[in-house]
Amino acid sequence: MATVGFIGLGNMGGPMAKNLLKAGHQVSVFDLVPAACDALAKEGALKAPTARDAITDADYIISMLPAGKHVAETYIGQSGLLEMIGTETCALDCSTIDAETARKVGQAAQKSGVGFMDAPVSGGVAAAAAGTLSFMCGGDAETFEKARQILKDMGKNIFHAGPHGSGQVAKGCNNMLLAIHMLGTAEALAMGAKHNLDPKVLSEIMLASSGRNWSLEVYNPYPGVMDKAPASNDYQPGFMVDLMLKDLRLAMEIADTAGIDNAMGKLAKDLYEKHQEAGHGSLDFSSVQTRLT
Ligand code: NAD
Repeated sequence: MATVGFIGLGNMGGPMAKNLLKAGHQVSVFDLVPAACDALAKEGALKAPTARDAITDADYIISMLPAGKHVAETYIGQSGLLEMIGTETCALDCSTIDAETARKVGQAAQKSGVGFMDAPVSGGVAAAAAGTLSFMCGGDAETFEKARQILKDMGKNIFHAGPHGSGQVAKGCNNMLLAIHMLGTAEALAMGAKHNLDPKVLSEIMLASSGRNWSLEVYNPYPGVMDKAPASNDYQPGFMVDLMLKDLRLAMEIADTAGIDNAMGKLAKDLYEKHQEAGHGSLDFSSVQTRLT
């Protein structure tokens, strides 16, 4: 059993912290929204009045926050946590943020002798609740080995992507590719359907052929093809268009700093922006199908 300080108990952090409790860890929680802490306290967590209180004597610190500025403020801002974290503690930021901030916090941690990793996740709220998230970690090998112990209680696949920031780069690469194959899948299905093909039959054909991809296999965007996909439930998320767009913007920064001409990624971002502007930001990201049907 480990002692964990958990900061940020939103749609993702809440169920992740719950899984740590289920695994028998002692979890102290903090969120700016008191109701989020109350919900976890009912599950057996200790409610902390501040982030600093949550991490006192923690073996592990886990944060799951909205964006880079929240992560920077939490760890290296005025009264940031880094100055009070012991060298035996392992700090894991699982938020999806810009790689630059992840590197900055990672380097500051290294200077203080603290094991820190960026460890963003793939898998949405359902995977967080089921404990089947994939973690992509950026940091040193020793911290990764320590982190693996606790991450396995919240996830299924745990990868060491490389040094600080690499987790965020891996996440940006993955989600840009996800947006591209979702858009491509939606176009192929719309094209076939307009030519009177049954989208279910067309999906089976493409699944057995070279067009096979994750969107087609487990998240079909055409309504009625897969009972459990958001497409068959009025595109209720799932993974919102707004969040996909956040990830695509982060991916653009990753491409720019690498000097990569990611034409497909840019197009995917533009198309998702138009879809958001049309008022679909809170729908599942597979709702791009409705642009074409
Ligand atoms: P959310 O908005 O539901 O939760 C964020 C929580 O952080 C909120 O409860 C908020 O009150 C709290 N918070 C903000 N600033 C804080 C601070 N300084 N101290 C303590 N608490 C603070 O967001 P979410 O959906 O849980 O996502 C969290 C992160 O996970 C984001 O970076 C997101 O991009 C990423 N992510 C989300 C999904 C998803 O499907 N929702 C999937 C993968 C990754």
